[in-house]
Amino acid sequence: MQTTIVGYPRIGKMRELKFAIEKYWRGEVTEAELQKTAKELREEKLKKQKQEGITWSPVNDFSYYDGMLDLSVMLNAVPKRYRELNLSPLDTYFAMARGYQGEKGDVKAFAMKKWFNTNYHYMVPELEEGMELKLQAEKLFLEYEEAKQLGICPRPVTIGAFTFLKLASVTAETLRTEYLAPVKKSFQELLQECNKKGVEWIQIEEPALVMDLEEADKKLFCDIYQDVLKEKGNVKVLLQTYFGDVRDIYQELSELPFDGLGLDFVEGKYTEKLIQEHGFPKEKYLYAGLVNGKNIWKCDYQKKLAQIEHLKKVTDKLVLTTSCSLLHVPYTTKSEKKLSEDVLKYFAYAQEKLTEIHELSVLSKKDYVNEPEYQRNVEVIQSERGMKDSEVCRQVEALSEKDFIRNVARTERQELQREKLGLPALPTTTIGSFPQTKEVKSNRSRYRKGEISKEQYDAQVFAFIRDCVRQQEELGLDVLVHGEYERNDMVEFFGENFGGYVFTEYAWVQSYGTRCVKPPVIFGDVKRLAPITVKYSEYAASLTKKPMKGMLTGPVTILNWSFPREDISHREMAFQIALAIRQEVVDLEAAGISVIQIDEAALREKLPLRKGEWHSDYLDWALEAFRLCHSGVKPETQIHTHMCYSEFEDIIHEIDEMDADVITFEASRSKLEILDALKEAEFETEVGPGVYDIHSPRVPSVEEIVEAIRKMLEKIPQEKLWVNPDCGLKTRGIPETEASLRNMVAATQILRKELK
Ligand code: GLN
Ligand code: ZN
Repeated sequence: MQTTIVGYPRIGKMRELKFAIEKYWRGEVTEAELQKTAKELREEKLKKQKQEGITWSPVNDFSYYDGMLDLSVMLNAVPKRYRELNLSPLDTYFAMARGYQGEKGDVKAFAMKKWFNTNYHYMVPELEEGMELKLQAEKLFLEYEEAKQLGICPRPVTIGAFTFLKLASVTAETLRTEYLAPVKKSFQELLQECNKKGVEWIQIEEPALVMDLEEADKKLFCDIYQDVLKEKGNVKVLLQTYFGDVRDIYQELSELPFDGLGLDFVEGKYTEKLIQEHGFPKEKYLYAGLVNGKNIWKCDYQKKLAQIEHLKKVTDKLVLTTSCSLLHVPYTTKSEKKLSEDVLKYFAYAQEKLTEIHELSVLSKKDYVNEPEYQRNVEVIQSERGMKDSEVCRQVEALSEKDFIRNVARTERQELQREKLGLPALPTTTIGSFPQTKEVKSNRSRYRKGEISKEQYDAQVFAFIRDCVRQQEELGLDVLVHGEYERNDMVEFFGENFGGYVFTEYAWVQSYGTRCVKPPVIFGDVKRLAPITVKYSEYAASLTKKPMKGMLTGPVTILNWSFPREDISHREMAFQIALAIRQEVVDLEAAGISVIQIDEAALREKLPLRKGEWHSDYLDWALEAFRLCHSGVKPETQIHTHMCYSEFEDIIHEIDEMDADVITFEASRSKLEILDALKEAEFETEVGPGVYDIHSPRVPSVEEIVEAIRKMLEKIPQEKLWVNPDCGLKTRGIPETEASLRNMVAATQILRKELK
């Protein structure tokens, strides 16, 4: 059986590409030097794939920033504002990626969005009037030739026309239709060019097909490919999909003259069923995405080999591949020096997945049960993984309806809380973190390096807290915070204090451009080992008479920003984490903290791609997990939550169902629509739509904030409105933070006078 992968990480084993690009941006290396590094990295990955026995290697999966941005460039969809800068092609590309500010002009970057259900971000293509789309595929063919020279069988890859047109932002909706013909033509030219160059296979990726498709979408897709495929000549075209199944368009895909269909057998719930019910077209190759491209666990050979055997009965043209690009997993477990073999033996990053694919293809040819590769795998998969906790499992099992419900209804609670907290109208607060200054960071790094003791570290944290509380009192804020100086990251900090979590050294995954994240791994059953934040919050509260807000991260966000287990459901993991957070909530309350915020920054982003699954697959348990955290507190204890974006018009009732007392969120960019939606939904939760944008160092004026609050008051009843910045202040400097908060309080005071 032939083998391949959908794509490979670009960033390099030690994030070499990231560092090289950032050096180039700082002017420390030339373009030629950067290109040399990039070329070496491409060579290295291709050689690795060959060495591991992969038959076909994707090329053009490399990118200096993002594959969708590469496609914009390949189609010459470069907006005028960038062309007018007259920069070199590479600098124009980076200007689109990050914006440009310099002697040649001042332009903003492309917008950036989450790539389907991953934590990767793509650069949203732009279509504007007057663009001259034409094919510019130098990059694709350069990478093709490079691979050829290395004696590799290369398969150029690109994102397809349908996904491009669906995801592009347009200055006018008509442009999507106007540019259909030129986009099609470019793809036709691409196939013609491939023919000339003797390309055997090309991979066109259309992940947008795994979303809910309407008739018009299907028509558009068929229209595009009927025409594009006319030009394929001798080139074989693989239509690659991922992140789900193609239930709405399987029939059409089978009928169109594609030479291969790449289907996802991991996240595609209906993939097997589709094949079973409708068969698989004889003339086509089935690229079976059996190895999970998104998670770090070894795959189960027994299961996969059974699936392969089954598929072999369906088609004799089977190619084994990954469920999606390996872009979403780290490079290699070989770099991990600190994890014990008892943990590492369960992991397979990108490089190890190559081995898995090769081994599976070899094993599938023979009677494999006695083969050493097979037995080694079975042994690992069946071995008892550590960090199991039957008590935690029992507690999750024992949960019932009442555990998700607060006893007293929200409206009644809100009154009790008002009385207890004695807050003025339009109470002011912040989202939690204060600037992470050099001193804060160096305290943490010195502790990590063992240069100072835990006591010395904490003493410093306490000193930061003291200054922070003083500062907030001086500013006249109403509900204070301790500043979050004890944490660098809102998920890692809790993970480190939970049992069941494992931390890697090199499991970096590209988030966008040169930015990488290193998600922690949920390895076993999660439980709280000891109180985590209580001493910091308690100390902070002792410094003031004003209410002090306890600060926690919610279970859904912790789960979404970790590598999850595959042996239990997301629901179970979320409930385990929720039970741990719940203990912390209860302890905070017992320590006298009467306002507790549970951040769910990432709740919105993991909504299933298909609307019909929003509730059954996600929201039902996600909302329960959140409620489980706070259902154990007294009615007078006020529960806050925070979300980073306000793009939740379509789940507004569900946000209310979290049953928090107050929610704060980012609204400074999309203010009006969300306010209307809140009003229309008769939103019950009190709200603090951020009155200024913390993502920029700019200090908002008093007048500006007054204006913003006035607008909010038009839509939100005064007794439900809070005043706060739109997210945590940790990335800001002290001077602008102080100035902005001072103006925020001044603005609030002006409005309070008017209200009286
Ligand atoms: N409480 C966190 C902070 O203030 C929230 C961060 C976030 O929403 N991303 O930093
Ligand atoms: Zn936020």
